[in-house]
Order: sequence, then structure tokens, then C-alpha cells
Amino acid sequence: MNIIKTSIVLNRYLNTIRETNTKVTIGFIPTMGALHSGHTSLINASVKNNDITVCSIFVNPTQFGDSADLEKYPKPIEKDIEVLLKNECDVLFLPSNDTVYPNDYTQKSYDLNDLDLKIEGASRPGHFQGVCNVVGRFFEIVKPDNAYFGQKDYQQTVVVNRLIQITNSSVKLNVVPIKRESHGLAMSSRNIRLSEKGRQNAAFIYRSLVQLKEDISNLGLEQSVKKARQFIQAQKGAHVDYLLAVDSITLEPVKNMEDSKGIAVVTVVEYEGVRLLDNIILK
Ligand code: AMP
Repeated sequence: MNIIKTSIVLNRYLNTIRETNTKVTIGFIPTMGALHSGHTSLINASVKNNDITVCSIFVNPTQFGDSADLEKYPKPIEKDIEVLLKNECDVLFLPSNDTVYPNDYTQKSYDLNDLDLKIEGASRPGHFQGVCNVVGRFFEIVKPDNAYFGQKDYQQTVVVNRLIQITNSSVKLNVVPIKRESHGLAMSSRNIRLSEKGRQNAAFIYRSLVQLKEDISNLGLEQSVKKARQFIQAQKGAHVDYLLAVDSITLEPVKNMEDSKGIAVVTVVEYEGVRLLDNIILK
């Protein structure tokens, strides 16, 4: 595996490959590191379907509103390199802040049709504009054929889809299903901040989403959502930031299954001081 730290070296490396084989396909997975099996499912999907897989590790400051959260973000780079080697990643792109945002770079404000202001965006102002800036920069630098994002960050996939549309990008977005721990908790780099017991207990989030899906035929969507919210809120130490059924394109709340062609239930639960994201696709 090549570890490359600058965009110039990465361009040179990828251009040489493209020149020798015009049909080569490049798969790209942007991450913030602290890699776990959720990330490796994205890497495996890319390795399987592309000639070259590039994974980036960059803790993007522009998507963190809270600098304490940024400081606390885990950075186990040696372990991450081992994970990437084991999963046959070809290139680790490990840029500095100056490589991603050179002096002459001005942060862009994308017209995201308010997708960035809803749900998670309402709790984290500026977060999705930050995501789009870094993803836009990486697409420019890597020029991948395929980009892999996790369903775990559902709103992010909707926002990146919009970014690709409005920038007329040729990158194909591939959304990979959520990888879960055996008891159901969605894997996340933040899970290491939970106690061992908390990590086991937090499976109630996924259980409530599965139950919600089962309840719909009897209770209807609105009541099932309400019941799931109450169930989570009743767990000791849990606080539901939001739990909503939303349209898969506009992210507007939906009340009935007939109201939209695509519906997902998205939630954030605060537990032991950690924000835990999860979602389930209903249709
Ligand atoms: P992050 O390092 O948290 O920015 O995540 C990098 C990518 O991995 C994003 O596209 C995430 O949605 C994805 N990802 C994180 N956790 C999981 C998971 N449990 N299952 C699938 N994809 C995930």
C-alpha cells in the first residue's frame, strides 16, 4: 500500500496508472480514521469493484462545530494502517490541512436545497457545508469513478448525492448498508467512548427501529414512530435528540407510508454523553 500525503504526489501516481490503462477504475472512500468494520465494508466493496482503491483519512475541521469534539476525535493511525493493509487498500491518502485547504482556497457555500439545514443539520449548523467542501476537494484531487459512503450517515448520503448533481460530477455514489455489532448497535468510531456496559445496552436503539418497522402494519407510521421515541426515551440515561420518518430525497418529515416513494427513519440518541446515529430504511 502506498501512503501519500500530498495532492501533487497522488495526482502523479494516479495519472501514471490512468495513462498505462485507460480503462482503470478508481474507488474512493473518505474517512476520518479510527477504522472499524463499518469502514472496512466500504473498502471491501471498493476493492471488489475497482482496479485501484484509495482511502483517505482526514479529520476535517470544517465539519466540526464544536472544537472539543474535534480535539477528542480518536487518531490511532498505526492501527488504521494495519486495517487498510489487511483489507488490500492500494493507497492511503493522508493529507495535512494545508493540502486539503491551501491558502488560496475559499470555503464554498453550496446550494443544497436546505438539505443541510434539516435534521442533523439543525443540531450542527455548517456541518454539511463542511462535508461538501471536503468531499468536493477530494473528488477534485482523486477524481474517482466510484465513491463509497455508509448508510450509517443517511443524511450525508442524501447531501452528497445532491452535491454530485449540482456540480455535474461524474462520480458514482455507492451507499453501503450499516455494519452493526452482533447485538445491533451501529458501528461508529465514537462507540469507544461508551462504557462496556453502555455499548451492550445501546443496542436498544436498533431494537426500537426494528420494532418500529414491525409495528407499522398495525399502528401506522406516525404512531409507530411515536412509540419508538417513547421506548428509547424511557431507557435510563438515554435522550432522543430526534427520531423522525423522512422522505429519502427531500428529508421532509412524512406521516404515512403512502406519502413518499422512499422513506427512512433517522435517529440520534445521546447516551453516556455520546451522540449515537442510526437509521432504518422503510421503503
Ligand atoms: P467517518 O470516518 O465516520 O467519517 O466515516 C467514513 C465513512 O464510513 C462514512 O461514509 C460513514 O457513513 C461510513 N461508516 C461509518 N460507520 C459505518 C457503519 N457502521 N456501517 C457502514 N458504514 C459506516
